[in-house]
Amino acid sequence: MTPAATLPALGVLEKTFGYDSFRGQQAEIIQTIIDGGDALVLMPTGGGKSLCYQIPALVRDGTGIVISPLIALMQDQVDALSAVGARAEFLNSTQSSDERLRVETAFLAGELDLLYLAPERLRVSSTTTLLDRGKIALFAIDEAHCVSQWGHDFRPDYLQLSVLHERWPSIPRIALTATATETTRREIAERLDLEDARQFVSSFDRPNIQYRIEGKQQPLQQLLSLLSSEHAGDAGIVYCLSRASVEKTADFLVQNGITALPYHAGLDARVRASNQSRFLREEGMVMVATIAFGMGIDKPDVRFVAHLDLPKSVEGYYQETGRAGRDGLPATAWLAYGLQDVVQQRRMIDQSEGELAHRRNLTAHLDAMLALCETIQCRRVQLLGYFGQPSSACGNCDTCLSPPETWDGTVPAQKLLSTIVRLKRERNQSFGAGHLIDILLGKQTPRVAQHGHDALATWGIGQDVGEQEWRGVVRQLLAQGLLAVEGEYGILVLTEASATVLGGSRTVLLRREAPKRSKAAKRAVA
Ligand code: ADP
Ligand code: ZN
Repeated sequence: MTPAATLPALGVLEKTFGYDSFRGQQAEIIQTIIDGGDALVLMPTGGGKSLCYQIPALVRDGTGIVISPLIALMQDQVDALSAVGARAEFLNSTQSSDERLRVETAFLAGELDLLYLAPERLRVSSTTTLLDRGKIALFAIDEAHCVSQWGHDFRPDYLQLSVLHERWPSIPRIALTATATETTRREIAERLDLEDARQFVSSFDRPNIQYRIEGKQQPLQQLLSLLSSEHAGDAGIVYCLSRASVEKTADFLVQNGITALPYHAGLDARVRASNQSRFLREEGMVMVATIAFGMGIDKPDVRFVAHLDLPKSVEGYYQETGRAGRDGLPATAWLAYGLQDVVQQRRMIDQSEGELAHRRNLTAHLDAMLALCETIQCRRVQLLGYFGQPSSACGNCDTCLSPPETWDGTVPAQKLLSTIVRLKRERNQSFGAGHLIDILLGKQTPRVAQHGHDALATWGIGQDVGEQEWRGVVRQLLAQGLLAVEGEYGILVLTEASATVLGGSRTVLLRREAPKRSKAAKRAVA
């Protein structure tokens, strides 16, 4: 890198943005684009991706075209750039035709440093013709993982972004994402025609975030005890899977004296916008939201991210928890999950439309998430390992701070598996976890009576293990692939690997369920 070439970028960083040095690989990335090369940038949320295209856009001749799926945030981005004196505008479907005309005229007159475009605009030939007539400094493709068809944020319009390279081959391109396994990275490179681009992969570690995952007993009470004992008055995000549980959770928190707001796609757009801006501007707000909330949100002092339902993938979990502690100060990522989460998600996958390959992919994502939940090693080691980054025990996650007790669950596992086998063989019946546990515990329920299950050889042979612990056994066997769940009713079936347990050639190591909540936590709730 020649000093002459570094100067403009550093000058812009200082004069325009008011920062004195580049972070991580920013300088190299920026130089690559300024020199006309392509780049694929993998950087965790909060790492500083925006400057990687904003500075080259300011340094190079012409306008930097930024493709972003986050229409709701374009205004904020443009405002932030205008505030530092950069000339930025956007084009999306929310604008009037007068407004669009004004922006187009400014672009053609060479008066824009940056122009944000929603990906669907490139489908319209008027947009491509417009771009042909102006001077383009670079293309930035933000949230590039949206091109991944098997990923969790797929946007069909991203697939045709390869048109950028075909139509404007000499314009440098930079694709950016915070989500990146090896597979996603390859997919982005392939689909966006970026195989020859320089790749910049930052460390995905967020050492200030404390990862904690616990069993779900009374989730709302568990959440409240976390908030009142460790995060009183803190801003945070609580993720729920459904709109109904968002509403219920927000109500519950408000009733317990916490300033919480709901956010989900079913709310009126105005309510959503107002809740989002209160969360960003006021102190100590708790946003209870579906995953519709958060992409692109830049609030540095989010002190906790809590999940009341199991995320569908490690990518999603990492991205959502990554919204905590962007200021580098200590923050908590807390997740409560239970057997019901696993059953429900398997059912959703079974019922989902689409090809077998797609369902297999969803299953693989869920399995990786379960493995993270049930691991007895450091959460961070497991998490970073998933993203292809080896590391050593972190000392700042629940398994490091209080190593889980393990126990030999081989015999209980055999009892459960052989109950499933007997029911199938002797009676051609299959059941879900609840009824199987009732049989093992020897409970006289109406269903047991109806089927005469108290006559089974395994009836009541599992009384040495508590009910809660049994649910843990089932969950962990599912996570270890020694058991599978099927169909609408969540029936449990054996896998190929189950035979090794039944045959006695495999030991099953399980983590002990966390003890019941402490008295102190109960008092805080009451
Ligand atoms: P990302 O898009 O990767 O999530 P952003 O681009 O929003 O991250 O940057 C996160 C925060 O870090 C922003 O507030 C940004 O202004 C700040 N930031 C980025 N680069 C630098 C730098 N070199 N020095 C200081 N602050 C920076
Ligand atoms: Zn750890």
